[in-house]
Amino acid sequence: MKMGEFNMNKQGGTSDASTVESEIKTHLLVQHWRKDFPILHTSLYGKPLVYFDNAATTQKPSIVIEAENHYYRHINANVHRGIHTLSQQATEAFEATRNKIRQFINARYEHEIIFVRGTTEAINLVAQSFGRSRFKAGDEIIISAMEHHSNIVPWQILCQQTGAALRIVPVSDDGELDINAYQALLKPKTKLVAITHVSNTLGSINPVKTIIKHAHELHVPVLLDGAQAIAHIPADVQDLDCDFYAFSSHKLYGPTGIGVLYGKAELLDEMPPYQGGGDMISSVSFEGTTYNKLPYKFEAGTPNIAGAVGLGAAVDYLTAIGLDAIVKHEQSLLSYATELIANIPELRIIGNATQKTGIISWVMAGVHPHDIGTFLDRQAIAVRTGHHCTMPLMERFGVPATVRASFALYNTKNEVDKLVSAIYQARELFK
Ligand code: PLP
Repeated sequence: MKMGEFNMNKQGGTSDASTVESEIKTHLLVQHWRKDFPILHTSLYGKPLVYFDNAATTQKPSIVIEAENHYYRHINANVHRGIHTLSQQATEAFEATRNKIRQFINARYEHEIIFVRGTTEAINLVAQSFGRSRFKAGDEIIISAMEHHSNIVPWQILCQQTGAALRIVPVSDDGELDINAYQALLKPKTKLVAITHVSNTLGSINPVKTIIKHAHELHVPVLLDGAQAIAHIPADVQDLDCDFYAFSSHKLYGPTGIGVLYGKAELLDEMPPYQGGGDMISSVSFEGTTYNKLPYKFEAGTPNIAGAVGLGAAVDYLTAIGLDAIVKHEQSLLSYATELIANIPELRIIGNATQKTGIISWVMAGVHPHDIGTFLDRQAIAVRTGHHCTMPLMERFGVPATVRASFALYNTKNEVDKLVSAIYQARELFK
């Protein structure tokens, strides 16, 4: 990783007084944060829930649940169209989140923030609007071997429609992108680079600033899939200089059914609408339609207003805690868990990049991941097993599936101990 990339604050191995003090402080902080999440206080099979499926979706703090609840109880109305008070309040609440997101990812303008259903819809929007209007046979789109299906299939569909072709950046045995191979793939016929900021299966944090710099040297725009980054590392779109950034609210402690596409205003401005309908027009007649200005041009139909309100509360929550504190805690959990899990005999961690978020995927010789997942579930430990919507990556590592534990701000070392002890038990049972 080059200087200027995101600098992960790795925890050292010392145990001097200041480290102990800092660990106690973090422990107290995390206990405090845990109180904000009602679901963490439930039990399954008579045991307290240990939730390690955060890469799939995070749990929601009360502030988010209550924001949606308050919206429906006291404000509910459609946005942008009414002059009555509730409609204006709904519009204000909806637009307030746009501004919070702008600040959170440091976009220049509010109209660069487009509300969509989630990362998947954001990427499809770019493929069908930006890609379909510009790409032609012979053009190339670069993605990587570690992409989620959401950042593969929309481009495959686009390739079928336009005759463009996909080029794939390979992944090393450690789970890092081969940057030399990437550079070799970049050509004048490259029309877009679409890469994940963080791998949902490996946890690898990709050197996206380097990737963007090389692409921009050839004037190639870059889309970053930020689904796994947004709640775990800083995503400053101006600093990254990405052209598009996609993420889902439900992975940053917000509701499902809403997400964000950030795009540079000059690109969004030139792009045709993705869907037609109400709100995205400025006038309609049977002779023709003129489209609304940004961001509404891309927001056809009634949006997920309650979801946006909940997302705004989630951003407030994260901002109040501060990403620095979250990064520090999750990195500490990652180091702790990696050391313990890597020592389990017959277990192989898939993904050992030098820069990772709190995601650990593994396989155990002779035991199917689903069996481990089911065993852990009976211990009230929620992990994900399967291909994690990264089937080409499974093929790359020669495994059908992995078990994946992924951390969030409310996870503890004590929970990691429970996980590790349960894996040892599973190993005994299935041996
Ligand atoms: N990209 C990555 C890296 C993901 O991890 C996910 C979800 O797991 C997605 C895209 C798709 O997100 P969503 O299903 O919220 O649209």
